[in-house]
Amino acid sequence: MTEKVDNRFGMYGGQFVPEALMPELIRLQDAFEACKHDDDFQREFHRLLNDYAGRPSLLYYAKNMTEDLGGAKIYLKREDLNHTGAHKINNVIGQALLAKRLGKTRLIAETGAGQHGVATATIAALFGMDCEIYMGKQDTDRQRLNVYRMELLGAKVVPVTDGQGLLKDAVNAALADWAQHAADTFYVIGSAVGPAPYPAMVHEFQSVISKESRQQILQVEGRLPDAIVACCGGGSNAIGSFADYLDKPSVKLYGAEAAGQGLASGKTAATLELGSDGIFHGMASKFLQNQDGQIAKVYSISAGLDYPGIGPEHAALQASGRATYVGITDEEAVQAFEYIARKEGIIAAIESSHAVAYTEKLAKTMTPDQIIICTLSGRGDKDVAQVANYRGVDLHD
Ligand SMILES: *Cc1c(COP(=O)(O)O)cnc(C)c1O
Repeated sequence: MTEKVDNRFGMYGGQFVPEALMPELIRLQDAFEACKHDDDFQREFHRLLNDYAGRPSLLYYAKNMTEDLGGAKIYLKREDLNHTGAHKINNVIGQALLAKRLGKTRLIAETGAGQHGVATATIAALFGMDCEIYMGKQDTDRQRLNVYRMELLGAKVVPVTDGQGLLKDAVNAALADWAQHAADTFYVIGSAVGPAPYPAMVHEFQSVISKESRQQILQVEGRLPDAIVACCGGGSNAIGSFADYLDKPSVKLYGAEAAGQGLASGKTAATLELGSDGIFHGMASKFLQNQDGQIAKVYSISAGLDYPGIGPEHAALQASGRATYVGITDEEAVQAFEYIARKEGIIAAIESSHAVAYTEKLAKTMTPDQIIICTLSGRGDKDVAQVANYRGVDLHD
């Protein structure tokens, strides 16, 4: 297990932000530490997770996949069944409750494909807070439905034209807004990334995934699983899926990251396999970057996984050997998307399909008395048109 010392996970993490933001980070850290042991906060957090987001999510035995693959027993942790269709709502509820505690009236967030923006706009509507979402210009053009969705929920979407007009540029814009408006504004970060205490905070709020799965698997199987598999963009659903097993070395932990067109293709987002140590977006972690430290262009078929960095805790878990990270290509992910739809009747997000693809490979190397829990981080309705397009079918004809 990784020792967390002074905002660090091993040699990763930290708080690399402009001076002006430090008092705000310290206030946030204090509020976060307090809420962990505050009964009122915990009660409200779990009430919203259960009554609003629809938790606990199911742990489903995938009998058809298990029999077809002929190896380990496969269970699916169904985060796709949450309100707004993914795990992101868990974290947003936690951070928005903290924002309320700190007396903030305005939420801001970055979003890539729009999933985290929609989750944040949803909770802002529920809490009656102002909401502004930063989104790369290219992404606003590609994801017009999600832009409109956020506007329906009462949020203002700000297209970011800097850089490539992608997720990393949206994060920069959100950080700049926060530095300017910290008095009334809370920055809701969408993954296990950014300056401390964000990675630890996202870990805490997403750990509900593994707290539930551990209870659920003990109830049906009477023992812990042999392996956990989750997809890895910034790493929030993965760290939430791993959290409650970190101190159980018999449970192997696997993160599936996006290899895009292949690890050697140059069109990839496999940060943990190909990245190097650096500092960006307020944290020390691993990044895809050139020799001068310029952040590289990243590519994946999955908008939720094409981030050039990774949460610092994952960098540390890889360094210590506690978790293993593997690249899954676009082609493998699309095949898994189609496979789980036909075998189990579940249309999983293209991000989650990276985890499914690795689960297929892994299960075949294991025996029927062993157990894998694979996290389905989200549902795949949003990806149907893109997968059709990948297969040469244009749904807009
Ligand atoms: C955003 C997203 C991801 C990637 O984010 P993580 O922080 O790595 O979990 C994965 N799956 C879905 C469905 C998403 O919306």
